[in-house]
Amino acid sequence: MSISFNPNAPAKSTDTLQVEMVRRVSNGEIIDVSAWLPTQTEEEIHFLRTKIRQENGERFSCFCCGHDVLLRKHEHGGHYFAHKEKNAAEKAKCLYQQKGIISLEERNRIRYHGQREGSRHIKTKQLIKKILCSDPGFSQPEIEKTWTTFADGWRKPDVASKWNGQPIQQIVFEAQVSNTYPQVVAERTDFYRKQGALLIWIYDRLTEKEWRTLHADTFCSNGRHLFIVDEECVTISEAKGQAHFRIYSQRPEVVPFKRPTDNRWGLEIIQKENFDLIPFSSLSLNVDSQTANYFDIHDDQRIVKHKVLCAEVQSGCSYDALEKSIQEFIKNNRPIDRKQIEGWAALICGIESKRLGEPIGTKLANAVGVLNLVYDHHPNFFPHLIHTLDRLKIDPPDQRCGAWKKRVNDFYRGVYKGDPLPQPHKKSSELLTYLYS
Ligand SMILES: [Zn+2]
Repeated sequence: MSISFNPNAPAKSTDTLQVEMVRRVSNGEIIDVSAWLPTQTEEEIHFLRTKIRQENGERFSCFCCGHDVLLRKHEHGGHYFAHKEKNAAEKAKCLYQQKGIISLEERNRIRYHGQREGSRHIKTKQLIKKILCSDPGFSQPEIEKTWTTFADGWRKPDVASKWNGQPIQQIVFEAQVSNTYPQVVAERTDFYRKQGALLIWIYDRLTEKEWRTLHADTFCSNGRHLFIVDEECVTISEAKGQAHFRIYSQRPEVVPFKRPTDNRWGLEIIQKENFDLIPFSSLSLNVDSQTANYFDIHDDQRIVKHKVLCAEVQSGCSYDALEKSIQEFIKNNRPIDRKQIEGWAALICGIESKRLGEPIGTKLANAVGVLNLVYDHHPNFFPHLIHTLDRLKIDPPDQRCGAWKKRVNDFYRGVYKGDPLPQPHKKSSELLTYLYS
């Protein structure tokens, strides 16, 4: 004889659900009903049906409107949640109404907010709160523990605070632990921009191998910066009394390479990954672009391209591209004297040679050869070279030797080849400060 009811079978859900996301009132847990039902047995669900209907039993509420829901069973055997009082849900304009059609956008918004109450999400919020509390520059952060309804959650950020450092109304932080709903993420960014607030997305981990879409979206929208929080951020922030975040970034850099065609040292661009603890106070914040950055990716890209062109000119390549690059930097289209372009290229190659330890743009024996080349052929750029190396602290006195040592000493005595010092090339100062700020 077959058993007509099997209490051990997994509970079935209906194909269409009236209320897709519910909250267990006793512990605040948000339940995605269609995923959750099959994890329960028929026995558990039938037991729960009774409990819900008892006084002081279990209570569940609709995650959208906050009103009570009951478990019901369809005649075909599937379970579902429905509002206890249809009128109340109707009055609250709940999106989960019987026979109501809910758009994919709305469904995703509600699901997204349901996920905001998961344990990983809550832990991330608490880490953010601790970091902000460590820094007197932030006002006492407001942290939302639970939302009664979806609409509340939509209006409230995870963690909000005011920041003294810049004239921005409010900084809001959203913990991001899921990889879903890019549309919802974009909507929230818009929402805060319109309010004059800066929204910063914070992850609790960097994705392991393959980048997730949302990580990549956030990283690229925020000028190649991705915020991450972990316990170490809290420890450092509390020790220094200054909020720190771990920021994953990719910055372009130049590295030397030997050209096989002529054995000269050129520069090539690489993207360097950084994973540093950065003080919040060192970030530049922008509400319009919704960015919080410690470097400007566009500036960085221009600078490395410019350095590459300098190495090319030093190697005897065409001047045109470097001339154009300088004109763009100084916002002046007048032609530049060829000798000046050469001098500028030699100067930048001198600095890069010392910085990177290879004779950039040349096939000289060593990096100092490029410094001496500036001395010999481009006297007006020589003072810039000395000052910049000093400012960057990359040519310490105890490392200088031979002719170069004597030349630097002479310079500080005000002597160049037995004569007074040449005048530094005037128009270079500003651009030099920009390249090596
Ligand atoms: Zn509802």
